[in-house]
Amino acid sequence: MTAAAEKTNLLGMPKDKLEAFFDSLGEKRFRATQILQWMHQRGVDDFDQMTNVSKALREKLKQVAEIRGPEVVYDETSKDGTRKWVMRMDNGNSVETVLIPDGERGTLCVSSQIGCTLDCTFCSTGKRGFNRNLTAAEIIGQVWVARKAFMPFEPGPDRPITNVVMMGMGEPLMNFDNVVDAMNLMMEDLAYGISKRRVTLSTSGVVPGIDRLAEVTDVSLAISLHAPNDELRNQLVPLNKKYPIAELLAATRRYFSRLPDKRKATIEYTVIEGMNDKPEHARELAELLRDLPCKINLIPFNPFPESDFRRPSMNATRRFQAVLNEAGYIATIRTTRGDDIDAACGQLVGQVEDRTRRSQRYINVQQVNP
Ligand code: SAH
Ligand code: SF4
Repeated sequence: MTAAAEKTNLLGMPKDKLEAFFDSLGEKRFRATQILQWMHQRGVDDFDQMTNVSKALREKLKQVAEIRGPEVVYDETSKDGTRKWVMRMDNGNSVETVLIPDGERGTLCVSSQIGCTLDCTFCSTGKRGFNRNLTAAEIIGQVWVARKAFMPFEPGPDRPITNVVMMGMGEPLMNFDNVVDAMNLMMEDLAYGISKRRVTLSTSGVVPGIDRLAEVTDVSLAISLHAPNDELRNQLVPLNKKYPIAELLAATRRYFSRLPDKRKATIEYTVIEGMNDKPEHARELAELLRDLPCKINLIPFNPFPESDFRRPSMNATRRFQAVLNEAGYIATIRTTRGDDIDAACGQLVGQVEDRTRRSQRYINVQQVNP
């Protein structure tokens, strides 16, 4: 028996699970509160530093539990201030996490899977295939590592991480339970205390997952739409053949109608030259979204080596935006950040030991058409 493998990693446990864990040890549930604060607010991973926990309990915890975050193998800051970490999850696999500072705001872009199964045609993560879902500890571990990089600091307006978006590698709704546990920790006052308006899950359209999500949480939701009709979306997001646009938008409306506060959906639209960037696409999109309270985020396509798609000109993107603005929408263009360190949207690849053989297919295509 290898003792290390048997230990329970406490890092990914939200409060209720941690309370159940202390119950199972025959300990008081309030220990969960203490441990949460030590782990997430102070970045402590050593039980011996937990001075308000008795020595006897610390010894017991050392026997059965551990606090283990991902190992940082790369940590680089772009000339625009964007910081990227590559975090090793096990031998052969790593994911990327990006912090985008913008004035008072610091947005952390977190990964949910090692690779992705969904293979959207314009996304480099999809091209690398898929290995496995991240555990809750590995997801919240990315926030933990990023926050530790700024320790010590006091809570306040200059907090380095004010927002979290599940927009790194992977499709968060395909790793539902672990993503929900991790997002609960992001919002937990005893951990990171980020408001539900500032924790956003981005999905390419896993319709049953959106409905399930509404039953367990009320985080903010971003929908990766990218096209105003099914014919075009089928080409960009293969999942659309299973859950077409009408079903996706209906699920999105249901999600927001259940929230107690008034919040708008974010519609993400990666603008790709010659594919979906014409003014008529913008007009069709404006018509499509008429009944959905939303804001639209236009992301100029970020090129990567395996892709033939091109980034549209700024003029074309602005023209697209203008059509939406004239139709009454708030539409913003996401500025490309951190592309000198490959940290921009769609450039995150990590290291994926592919189990799907998809990456091999793309390598073969590249060799035929270099
Ligand atoms: N799987 C989820 C979240 C991760 S992708 C999703 O698809 O929503 C985060 C965002 O980056 C998505 O909106 C995605 O469509 C966009 N994106 C992916 N590749 C891109 C690229 N090459 N250029 C610009 N945006 C891209
Ligand atoms: Fe997966 Fe999102 Fe990339 Fe599509 S865009 S392949 S869902 S990570």
